[in-house]
Amino acid sequence: MTLRDETKSLLLRLGVAPDRFEGGAMASFSPVSGAQVGALTPDTAEGAAAAVERAATAFRAWRMVPAPRRGELVRLLGEELRAAKADLGRLVSIEAGKSPSEGLGEVQEMIDICDFAVGLSRQLYGLTIATERPGHRMMETWHPLGPVGVITAFNFPVAVWAWNAALALVCGDPVLWKPSEKTPLTALASMAVFARAAARFGALPEGLAQVLIGGPELGEVLVESPKVALISATGSTRMGRIVGPRVAARFGRSILELGGNNAGVVCASADLDMALRAVAFGAMGTAGQRCTTMRRLFVHESVYDALVPRLVRAYASVSIGNPLETNALVGPLIDRAAYEAMQAALTAARAAGGTVHGGSRVEFGGEGAYYVRPALVEMPAQTGPVLEETFAPILYVMRWSAFDAVIEDHNAVGAGLSSSIFTLDLREMEQFLSAAGSDCGIANVNIGTSGAEIGGAFGGEKETGGGRESGSDAWKGYMRRATNTINYSRELPLAQGVVFDI
Ligand code: NAD
Repeated sequence: MTLRDETKSLLLRLGVAPDRFEGGAMASFSPVSGAQVGALTPDTAEGAAAAVERAATAFRAWRMVPAPRRGELVRLLGEELRAAKADLGRLVSIEAGKSPSEGLGEVQEMIDICDFAVGLSRQLYGLTIATERPGHRMMETWHPLGPVGVITAFNFPVAVWAWNAALALVCGDPVLWKPSEKTPLTALASMAVFARAAARFGALPEGLAQVLIGGPELGEVLVESPKVALISATGSTRMGRIVGPRVAARFGRSILELGGNNAGVVCASADLDMALRAVAFGAMGTAGQRCTTMRRLFVHESVYDALVPRLVRAYASVSIGNPLETNALVGPLIDRAAYEAMQAALTAARAAGGTVHGGSRVEFGGEGAYYVRPALVEMPAQTGPVLEETFAPILYVMRWSAFDAVIEDHNAVGAGLSSSIFTLDLREMEQFLSAAGSDCGIANVNIGTSGAEIGGAFGGEKETGGGRESGSDAWKGYMRRATNTINYSRELPLAQGVVFDI
């Protein structure tokens, strides 16, 4: 069976109508072989504007549905995702080039966030706060915010939608999804799964969850519309630099989940076997196409020669190949542009004095498929391409000798997403996690930078955008807070003792 035929049968099984993915002008490709696997009809800007209107109308009804009842819809979505896991996971592997376990893992993440959100639907608490006035009570209430525009990247084509949608729906907000133009088929499939949950739920407002298939121009419709209360945008820092100010200019709210330039710090006391495995997965897994991929590694000079040659050997021997048919650990890059960006970064690294191990193209899967041997680059200093995220498997390795200085270097890049330290020294560990340590939204000890769980808040600082999604109290980003003061006395005392007698 060709990849296109397999894709078609998966889509049909998942419940997507053939006219959504056949006969249209928008081609979709599988990075596994470069083959075209879909021909979609993109939405128009007018269609997107109409979708915003539908979402605004849906909001008026959905916000009045009790939150635990809203949670029931998300519970059903979790059930339908469980039933669809094998097919949807396989489709993720085809469209994003992930290994089977990563494709399935992505759907598992959708299921996990649904479970989390169902519990949350009974826990959208406010506080009761001590008031200075007698016979008064003060409290805060959390209300639904409004339609949420969710813009997502190709590398987590469905999980990021679920992180946002599960929370937004229990919080009382309709969802408008603009998936990456590189992964539209998995988006259609996810919406078909949602439609089954919606049908089981019963009467739902029209336009509660919608998808807009197409390029950045559709995202722009959401970004510009004052009826879209929150823009949750995941993608490159370049995209965030455009989207963030536009949403701010209309006083909209945004959650920005942008690029990372994540580092590991290996200390003299580190368990080197553990560090080796964590770095290998963190830097080469998903072919370096995770926002949390490890891109920089600082190794203490006393263990450099014990660790780095082993890493170089791991890079030379890691299996590369078709993620659908083999157990290869490294699959394809998403497209030619990613390959060219990788080569440009390696050229710049060489010019800056770096020694490059690996990094060349591995002829595999056909002309339109871009497989590479991951690159480990020993750098004399943190300069040039080391300072930027290149969305490909490149790990820049540098030596360090003084702990305070390595923390400075660690933090001396634009992005601030994920970080990790490998140490058995309590002081180093605590300093890394302290206010004077890693400046990232995620700071780990003795595990790599990637592979977050949904229970924690996910996101990063600085050029990563500052947004938080998923667990902990990230739900507050999807609601508005009202402070309420109630006077049950017969007097009207004013705050701060102000007198105003008339
Ligand atoms: P991208 O920025 O090219 O595209 C992301 C999305 O933004 C797409 O849906 C695209 O159509 C849309 N978009 C682009 N320009 C827009 C505009 N002007 N207005 C509205 N929408 C616009 O990113 P990509 O190549 O798909 O993904 C890789 C990037 O995403 C990497 O930088 C990676 O680090 C980042 N990423 C971050 C996180 C995170 O949680 N921090 C997660 C996944 C990926």
